[in-house]
Amino acid sequence: MPKYHIWTIGCQMNKAESERLASRFEELGYEATDKVDEADLIVLNSCVVRQSAENRVVNKLSILKSLKKAKPEITLALTGCLVNADTDRLHRSYPHVDHFFKAGDYPPWLEKPDALSLPHHPSPTAFVTIIQGCDNFCSYCIVPYRRGRERSRPIPEIAGEVRELVRRGAKEVTLLGQNVDSYGHDLPDRPDLADLLAELDEIDGLVRLRFLTNHPKDMSLKLIEAIARLDKVCEMISLPVQAGSDEILRVMKRGYTVAQYRELVGQIREKIPTVAVSTDIIVGFPSESENQFRQTLDLLSETKFDTVHIAAYSPRTGTAAARDFEDDIPSDEKKGRLKKAELLQEKIQTEINARLLDKTMEILVEGRNRGKWYGRTRTDKLVFFSSDKDYHGQLVKIRIEKTSPWSLQGKI
Ligand code: SAH
Ligand code: SF4
Repeated sequence: MPKYHIWTIGCQMNKAESERLASRFEELGYEATDKVDEADLIVLNSCVVRQSAENRVVNKLSILKSLKKAKPEITLALTGCLVNADTDRLHRSYPHVDHFFKAGDYPPWLEKPDALSLPHHPSPTAFVTIIQGCDNFCSYCIVPYRRGRERSRPIPEIAGEVRELVRRGAKEVTLLGQNVDSYGHDLPDRPDLADLLAELDEIDGLVRLRFLTNHPKDMSLKLIEAIARLDKVCEMISLPVQAGSDEILRVMKRGYTVAQYRELVGQIREKIPTVAVSTDIIVGFPSESENQFRQTLDLLSETKFDTVHIAAYSPRTGTAAARDFEDDIPSDEKKGRLKKAELLQEKIQTEINARLLDKTMEILVEGRNRGKWYGRTRTDKLVFFSSDKDYHGQLVKIRIEKTSPWSLQGKI
């Protein structure tokens, strides 16, 4: 049996797309291997959202160059956000790569399946892409250039896929898109995310629904009310703010002010009192002053997010920010700001999670790691517990006995 190996970095969409590719390869008679030098077919699913990710991909490509030289019969393919429209140039830069195909596509050298290939034994927590691409063009971001314009999948198609995943064992589904709030605007009846959630909430056997990522400029009251009302939809919202200064948000082209963001979070917390809110932050954006950075810290202190993903600004060739602004915050300064923001957030998470001590929380068990079962609460907190019984894919109640900024531990 021929073997395939997929290497993936980057966002959940990349992970979901790699999973689909893996299923397709298996349908075509390939067997998975985690050893690169045993594989007949190697796919790299790349990310270039920041320079650090791009470096890892380029590094991996250069390692594979010698493997391809030693074994020219292997097939090497590259997908994900490194792949742009100029495949001729990619072929010149990476002559040892046989095929390039765009993120979310099927490689042209494989027969395209009639429907999406789904894993035969999905994890209890599965991912389903509902909208591809992005129309926003935030000034720093490469994603719209690599993933193209927004394309929503029709509700019946998504519902069919979710039903099938549930039939095969999935209990929780996370709906994915760069901006899930603009779901449906390009479909005939213009359904929105709230309509989609209402439809999926009816699916028997499905226990939980989540979705990522929301855009603050597009999140509607109708959606907030749907989250509050629908039983299966988890109390968790991922709402990237990116900066705490109006001027920086303006040059980032985010389309909202800090006051509007605060009001939105206030509304969400009023309608969904137990909600967990997470966000993304960029520090060291061109021209970000010490004072503007302080405003980001102030927003973190005041809002008290459950989790924050913090990144140092990295210019991406082809974006408006890389073209129009000088990358003028020195690298050491960016690192210092990153560290400060992370330390502050660690303190906040320590406090938030400490309040969960002695509480009993429902978790969906995803797997086992170093002798401990783990899973997540509806609010996306990672929880560990010990037991000799098999709890894979089950909902269990755990009494929390120990907390840290990153995870919780308890007893069943
Ligand atoms: N669609 C989502 C996230 C897309 S990219 C959104 O609108 O927020 C994921 C995260 O990477 C972003 O939230 C941002 O914080 C970070 N990011 C994107 N481009 C970046 C860049 N050029 N430098 C540093 N961080 C970046
Ligand atoms: Fe990038 Fe902005 Fe689109 Fe998110 S919304 S993918 S940050 S352009």
